[in-house]
Amino acid sequence: MSEDDATRIMQFVFNLRSNGVLDDRVLAAMEKVDRGLFVTGTFENRAYEDTPLPIACGQTISQPSIVGLMTEALEIGPRDTVLEVGTGSGYQAAILSQLARRVYTIDRHKPLADAAERLFRALDLPNITVFCGDGSHGLPGQAPFDRILITAAAEDPPGPLLAQLREGGIMIVPVGQSDTVQRLIKVRRTPQGFHYDELSEVRFVPLIDGMPQD
Ligand code: SAH
Repeated sequence: MSEDDATRIMQFVFNLRSNGVLDDRVLAAMEKVDRGLFVTGTFENRAYEDTPLPIACGQTISQPSIVGLMTEALEIGPRDTVLEVGTGSGYQAAILSQLARRVYTIDRHKPLADAAERLFRALDLPNITVFCGDGSHGLPGQAPFDRILITAAAEDPPGPLLAQLREGGIMIVPVGQSDTVQRLIKVRRTPQGFHYDELSEVRFVPLIDGMPQD
């Protein structure tokens, strides 16, 4: 690794810490997975800034510190199976893959799902499986999940996804209209039912029903 690369990564991790990402395992995963590989084209040179950036299909790769905070909030254990709805660039799934036993990730845009799958193969991340489809129905064939992360804003936590969360499981989901401030919600499934906590304010692209026309 060149000195420039090392400085850039140190600065990247420093920014994560200053923006509230404190969990050492999460920081180690984010130090290891190079965000520069998940941002291509015009914005390539901004990959290490703590900012969301445009990706293909009119979508965005999330802000690194938000990726960190959501990952922290999931409290992933090494034996956990995680479902991510909203693969996008694949960056968040690659981080999850460092902490969980298995990661399933789904996106409704085929070009995004295909590009992410190619990257996971190139990076040798065999514990991630990519699906193309409407993730608001979850993946009944792979359920139940220990952890579910939705990286697009829903009006409410989708019922089929709540149903696919294992007892003792945690779901993180941004809730709210896409043109207003959204709240990151942490849902815990207990034997008695679902328990909801509000985390920070966030801004995500919307969770959209069905498949795109293109
Ligand atoms: N986690 C991504 C960023 C996600 S952006 C990353 O690390 O880069 C949100 C993504 O959710 C977009 O790619 C969008 O296509 C996807 N999405 C929106 N609605 C969806 C749905 N119903 N099912 C699956 N994916 C959806």
